[in-house]
Amino acid sequence: MSESVHMKAYRACLLYFLPDAEPNQAAVFEDDGLLVVGPNEQGLQVVQAVGSYQALQARFAQVPVTHWPGRIIAPGFVDMHSHYPQTNVIGSPADGLLPWLEHYTFPEEKRFADPEYCAKAASFFIAELLRNGVTTALTFATSQPCSVTALFEQAQAQRLRLITGLCLMDRHAPADLLNQKMPHASVDATEQSLLDSEALIQRWHGVDRLGYAITPRFAPTSSDAQLRGAGELAAQYPDVWIQSHVAENQAEIAWARALFPASRSYLATYADFGLLRERAIYAHCIYLNAEDRTLMSASGAAAAVCPTSNLFLGSGFFDYAAADEAGFAYGLGNDVGGGTSFSPFHTMLAAYTVGREGQSKTGLSLSPQHLWWQHTAGAAQALGLEGVVGNLQPGCEADFVVLNPQATPLLARRKALANSLDELLFALIVLGDDRVVEHCHIATS
Ligand SMILES: [Zn+2]
Repeated sequence: MSESVHMKAYRACLLYFLPDAEPNQAAVFEDDGLLVVGPNEQGLQVVQAVGSYQALQARFAQVPVTHWPGRIIAPGFVDMHSHYPQTNVIGSPADGLLPWLEHYTFPEEKRFADPEYCAKAASFFIAELLRNGVTTALTFATSQPCSVTALFEQAQAQRLRLITGLCLMDRHAPADLLNQKMPHASVDATEQSLLDSEALIQRWHGVDRLGYAITPRFAPTSSDAQLRGAGELAAQYPDVWIQSHVAENQAEIAWARALFPASRSYLATYADFGLLRERAIYAHCIYLNAEDRTLMSASGAAAAVCPTSNLFLGSGFFDYAAADEAGFAYGLGNDVGGGTSFSPFHTMLAAYTVGREGQSKTGLSLSPQHLWWQHTAGAAQALGLEGVVGNLQPGCEADFVVLNPQATPLLARRKALANSLDELLFALIVLGDDRVVEHCHIATS
C-alpha cells in the first residue's frame, strides 16, 4: 500500500455497470459505497477499487476519504455526437434539416475561419459539457483546420476526453465552407483536406486524452475522390475514429441515393469507400433496412442515436428493437445544435420517448438502466473505449459525476417514493438536468 499516499477515496451512493451483463440488468447500486482512485503506471488517475464502504474501508484505511452523504457517484457521461460550432444555433426554428442547415448552421460555421472565434466557442462548449456531466465527447468541428486545433487545445486544457476531426466537405455547400485550396499550392482543395486531416492525426491523435476522427460531413457533401481518400486514411490509421451522418431523413436519403447510384444503399455508400469499420460512428441511423443493419453489425460500426435532435427536426425514430435484433452497437449523442440540450438527462428522456413510439416501428419501454447505460458504459463500448471510460470498474479513468437526487423540490419528493433502482434512475432521467450535477470530476495526470 505504498502508493496509498497518492490515492483518494470518495464515499457516497455508487452507480456503475457490470461489463458483461445485459444492459437491462447491468447497473449496480451501492447505498453506501467507496470509490478509490489513484495513478496508474502512466500517472493517470484511474479507479483502483469500487464497492461497499464496509467491504473496502479496512483495505484503504490510510487513504483520505471525502464523504458526500445523500449523493450518488456515477460514471461521467459519454456523448457520441455533437457539433461544437453549432452551440450558438441551438433552438433555431426551421422547416426540417436542409432549411435549418442553410439558414442557421452554415452562416454560423463560416465564423470559424477566425482562430480567436474558434477558441472562445471551443472553451464555452467544453465547459458546458463538463457542467452537464459529460466527460468524453465525439464531436464535429468545421472544414477550417483552425476549428479543429482550437478544440483540441481547449479540451487538453480542460482535460475532457475528446475526439474530433476536420470536416470533409468539398461540394454542395456554400463555397466558403468547403475545404479550401491553399494559395499557390499544387494540390486541389480535396487533396488539401486529406493532407490536413493526416497532419492533424499526427499532431493530436493519442496525445493526452485526445483522439482523431476522420470526418466526412455526410456523403452528399463529399466527392468520390474525397470519400476514397478518407477511406484510405481510415485503412492507414486503424485506431483513428470515423464519424459521419447517415439516414437521418427522407430528403437526405433521396439526395445521397441520386449522387451514388452504384451503391446498394446510402449506408452502403460508406462501406464502398472503406468507411465502415470498428470505431466508425454514424449519427442517426433511422432509416436503415435489414441489410443495412446486418452491414452495421458485421462491420463493427456503431450508431450515435440523437433523440432530442430527431424529435426537434421531426426526422424520425431510431428502431431499438431492430438494432438489437441485428446486434449492432449504439449509444447516445446530444447532436447540439440540431439537438436541444447539453444535458444527458434530457437526451436519455428523449431516447425513452423515441423507444416508445410504435407507429413507424416496434414501440418498447427502454428500462432506466438501459437508458443510462447508453450514455455511459454502452457508449464507451460503441466507441471502442470499454474499460477506459463510461464506467467505474477498476482501471477506468477517474471521470465521475456527483449527483444530488434532491436537487429540486419535485425530484426530492419523487425520489423519496422510489422503491427500486429503476424507479430512482427514472425519476432522475425524467426530472433531472444540470441542477442535479453537483461536481464533475475529471481524471488528472
Ligand atoms: Zn450531427
